[in-house]
Amino acid sequence: MDKNQARDESTTGASEWKTRPPYKIHDNSEDLDVKYEAGCHCGRVKYQLSRQEPLDSKLCHCETCQTQHAAPFQWAAVFHKDDINFSHGHHDLEWYDPTSKSIEHKLPCKVRCSYCHSPIMDEGRNMILLFPSLIRLKTDEDKAFFKPRCHMFYSKRVMDIPDGLPKWSGMSDQSDLIEDSPPELVRELERKREEERRMRFEKGENQ
Ligand SMILES: [Zn+2]
Ligand SMILES: [Zn+2]
Repeated sequence: MDKNQARDESTTGASEWKTRPPYKIHDNSEDLDVKYEAGCHCGRVKYQLSRQEPLDSKLCHCETCQTQHAAPFQWAAVFHKDDINFSHGHHDLEWYDPTSKSIEHKLPCKVRCSYCHSPIMDEGRNMILLFPSLIRLKTDEDKAFFKPRCHMFYSKRVMDIPDGLPKWSGMSDQSDLIEDSPPELVRELERKREEERRMRFEKGENQ
């Protein structure tokens, strides 16, 4: 299949994907306040980031991440699509849609270097999840910005990580907090559970 066509599945026009974030190329680096530089293993794909602190930073233990990264879990930092500029090699990207298991550009999709196959990011409908292992974090301050804030899909873990971070059984903020989460969070969860149980009881559901 023609490379351009393969990329146009959820876009229109010959090469529209190249003109939209996150693939829009800034004409010159002056319109981008570069905070970080990053690249794939072989160096064909290089990008810059204009945001210093990611919107979030998470460790995901889901089975898709385990398989796609061939690793016990995945580390991803959330950014806006406007925060990234591919300075090299945006033509060397390949896509994978884990839902349909096809290599078309359908969101959400996985984005890799088509040469060395380093995972570059997950492109969602509104956000991108970048893999900080590719980003050159020079100072302790930079590293602190990217420090993971929670674990997701911890119920699927292949190993325990006793780091005191909140641990969600599934999606963060939408599932149950499980063991080894910070005590105050677990207490809060218990309080909420007890409150819900009491309300069910008052409605007569438990009788
Ligand atoms: Zn590469
Ligand atoms: Zn995952």
